[in-house]
Amino acid sequence: MFVAKRENGEEIHLLHGWKEKQLMMLRKNERFFCPICHLEVQLKLGKQKQWHFAHKKSHSCKVEFENESAYHLRGKEQLYTWFQSQGCSVNIEHYLPAIQQRPDLFVAIGNRQIAIEYQCASLSAEQLLKRTEGYWKEGIQILWILGGNQLKRHGAYWLSLSSFHSCCVQYHSNPYLLYFCPDAKAFFKCNLLLPFSSSIVFSHAIYFPLQITTFKNILTTSPISIERLEKEWMNKKQRFRANSIHMWKQGERSFLELLYENCISLSCFPAEIGVPLPSLLAFRTHSFIWQAYILIELLGKFAVGEYFSLYTVFQYVERHWGIRRRLLPYLPGVFWKQAVREYMQFLCVIGEIEQVDVYKYRKIRCFIISKTEEEVQKFDRLFLREALRLMEAKYNMSGGKTDIIERYPEGIT
Ligand SMILES: [Zn+2]
Repeated sequence: MFVAKRENGEEIHLLHGWKEKQLMMLRKNERFFCPICHLEVQLKLGKQKQWHFAHKKSHSCKVEFENESAYHLRGKEQLYTWFQSQGCSVNIEHYLPAIQQRPDLFVAIGNRQIAIEYQCASLSAEQLLKRTEGYWKEGIQILWILGGNQLKRHGAYWLSLSSFHSCCVQYHSNPYLLYFCPDAKAFFKCNLLLPFSSSIVFSHAIYFPLQITTFKNILTTSPISIERLEKEWMNKKQRFRANSIHMWKQGERSFLELLYENCISLSCFPAEIGVPLPSLLAFRTHSFIWQAYILIELLGKFAVGEYFSLYTVFQYVERHWGIRRRLLPYLPGVFWKQAVREYMQFLCVIGEIEQVDVYKYRKIRCFIISKTEEEVQKFDRLFLREALRLMEAKYNMSGGKTDIIERYPEGIT
């Protein structure tokens, strides 16, 4: 940490332009204390890390401190300086006694208070929820900034999402994650976050160099390229068809069984399965699996012409042992229903079912089982395009600029 108390009760703030000699002198002559637990802390003036204070025994402090790595300290200092340069009122390590929490940075913009959590190590979901609850209770908004060292990319457009990272997903026009790397001196904003499997997501990442970026820039909606998504998704789906037997060996036998029971060969599973939808992130279960359950197991049971309600589909998904939702504390609880609805909407568009009123559908025809590879490809391409059209309608894919700070407070939870 950068802030401690001196023997005379004053605060000492290491980012306030101290010289090394001055601090060495101080350290010789007096002791320093943690402003929160009041235990003695050591002033560290090494070369590896930023100068900082450290508890003698970290576990004795009231606030759970992240074991502050050099990376974290560097990032925190850069972010602090950057927020100052934005003309924001910013406090570093500001302690909130009512909730016994201490965000890395505490920013005030107008009458809004925002706790900035700069997280370079994983946190348990319980810890994250506890912190969130505390801030919300005090009417404070939260912005998670993950350490750039946590960003695990697979090529230009895919990244792996741990369960901790999905807990940090916030929403502004579309789900996003924000990373900051003190080495690159830049933010990376990962937009869209469309899971192909439970942990691999498609994301449009945008690079924001600190020097030329404002806070407003970061939280402004960025255009997303639909062509790129189409190409990437199609490639992945094709590879998946070709190699899926290996992937399914990893404990996803239920999908194989489902196909087997319905006499569908693995490489020719219906193209209606595995389409991208705006709210796909809602499920932790592989998108191919939950869509297969709905398409084959649930809708497969209905006769052509039969009516069924949206409620039946919700209930089926909610009770299904094989469909698990993702923990997304900053997204509405009905987010998964949105994903189910989008899938039904997609099936309407391709003419498999028809919507007769708000909550009622009718089955028009069965799903398509292609016989040849060419046919499979043709339908994959066709259905992908239809699904993406829904995506375009939902998200601003053309990229208008909006000002989140003044008009869209929901981007920061
Ligand atoms: Zn302490």
